Amino acid sequence: MFETRAQMNASGGSSVPAAISDIGCEREINEDRYAVIDSAAGRAWIVCDGMGGALGGDLAAQLAIDAIRRELEKVGSSDESSDALRHSIESANRVIVLRRQNPAFANMGTTIVGVIVREDEVSIMHAGDSRAYVINQHKIEQLTTDHTYVQDLVERGTISHEEALAHPQAHVLTRCLGADPRLQLDIKCRWLWEGEGEILLLCSDGLYSLVSDAEIADVVRTTSPQEACIRLVELARERGGYDNITVAVLPLAGELREENPNPERAPRAAVSAPRPRVEIDVPQLPLGVRIVAMVFLFLVGAGGTLVYLLWRLSNL
Ligand code: CA
Repeated sequence: MFETRAQMNASGGSSVPAAISDIGCEREINEDRYAVIDSAAGRAWIVCDGMGGALGGDLAAQLAIDAIRRELEKVGSSDESSDALRHSIESANRVIVLRRQNPAFANMGTTIVGVIVREDEVSIMHAGDSRAYVINQHKIEQLTTDHTYVQDLVERGTISHEEALAHPQAHVLTRCLGADPRLQLDIKCRWLWEGEGEILLLCSDGLYSLVSDAEIADVVRTTSPQEACIRLVELARERGGYDNITVAVLPLAGELREENPNPERAPRAAVSAPRPRVEIDVPQLPLGVRIVAMVFLFLVGAGGTLVYLLWRLSNL
């Protein structure tokens, strides 16, 4: 663990994170949402891209953000940051699944990509096709794998990455919040090491469908986070802006790696193994009622024993 320090990128940009959400050029509403949530378990950044059109796309994304905020505000500092974010996203999923039971909202859902940062721990999780990238002066790495029909085709070698972007079913999701009560989240846990301050970028598909990874990296490397957000939205809009565009740029206080720099520290809980959560509401009776019930049960037991003894005695 080491102290957070100000990071300056190559152009002298600031270390202050930034985010932006833009309606784009063609849509009538913005169904994307982003949020920054401070909690005892760390600071979370969330990007959601809602779907369902007039009937609930923006509602689904907003419900997700609100549920995640509500849950994260409840966590304590002893909670694992990755568990806290995961549980809050699972809670958001349940909220949307329930709301979809109303036929008017039967098709709504939302993607999610979220990151939670506490000291040198960084957890990234997602469902759907919103993405997280990590960028440094030498590379841009996509940390998330889209949960889409075309990504499955890419992985099977049926189509190329480039063909995937232009594919007519490019946006058919195989996972999202709201579709299934048993949400499958992809979770990656990383650690910050001393070294070059890398930059995390979260975005909806409205950005990467129109701006290449190399262009994203170039803009992020050469301007401040605030300017990068504005420039990336401008680029997507110049090329048609067919979809809503959301970007968050988060400078990190070090280099993101898979290895724990403090191995003596207890390993974190197995975050990749989802813990089934069964919530049972157990009613608590008032103390007086419980005492009366215990006395009653005692008398019933004692009375039964007495009757039994009398019966045995009468049969001797
Ligand atoms: Ca979108």
